[in-house]
Amino acid sequence: MRFLAEHEVKAWIRGFGIAVPRAGTAPDPRAVEPVASALTPPLVVKAYGPGLVHKSEAGAVRLDLATGAAAAEAAREMLETLAGHGITPDGFLVEEQAEAGVEMIVGTVLDPAFGPVLLAGLGGVWTEVLRDTVLRLCPVTEADARSMLRELRGAALLDGSRGRPPVDRDALVRVLLAVGGPGGVAERLGEAPAEFELNPVVCGPGGAIAVDARLTGL
Ligand code: ADP
Ligand code: MG
Repeated sequence: MRFLAEHEVKAWIRGFGIAVPRAGTAPDPRAVEPVASALTPPLVVKAYGPGLVHKSEAGAVRLDLATGAAAAEAAREMLETLAGHGITPDGFLVEEQAEAGVEMIVGTVLDPAFGPVLLAGLGGVWTEVLRDTVLRLCPVTEADARSMLRELRGAALLDGSRGRPPVDRDALVRVLLAVGGPGGVAERLGEAPAEFELNPVVCGPGGAIAVDARLTGL
């Protein structure tokens, strides 16, 4: 099975019109600061490698880093923590931190009988707890994508709550179509037994950006 690092999957999905954070990679902590200098803080550092599928659980994600030096230090600490778990990362992904928003999951599931299915729902760290997701057979239409979002129990989160402005729903719909619409990611993967997941897509008033992307099982 081929391992695709997060930045490789992100480079691929950009070709489908999905926004991802500006980023660079560094093979080791010393290389982090020069990479960071081309980016605008706050920054995020993540370790990547075949043993790192659920990164935050492994301590391989650090957020809110204000400077390149802080990012380099975070990578050094991460390297040590991971070594304690017997993991040697291939490198570090340094990226710009998206402004907080509503975290959604968008992915594909291959149904043995019906083929590719688009999954959308409330994402981020509470995905498993909330279990608020909906499915549609691919390829989905724009009307399908919009009705999927309306069917979520937490649909009102997208309209703004507790003083937050409504999210750019059209941008989120475009992500759903880029994944599950005609010519989208799901169609491209076809019958490959792959699991594709954007979790989260961070949605705010100014757009929807995929800050994590995973493609496994190929
Ligand atoms: P995991 O492998 O644990 O799913 P993620 O890449 O999704 O790792 O990072 C964990 C969490 O950190 C995300 O759910 C999100 O809340 C936050 N996060 C990660 N990258 C970014 C980013 N570039 N901008 C903003 N938040 C981010
Ligand atoms: Mg994630």
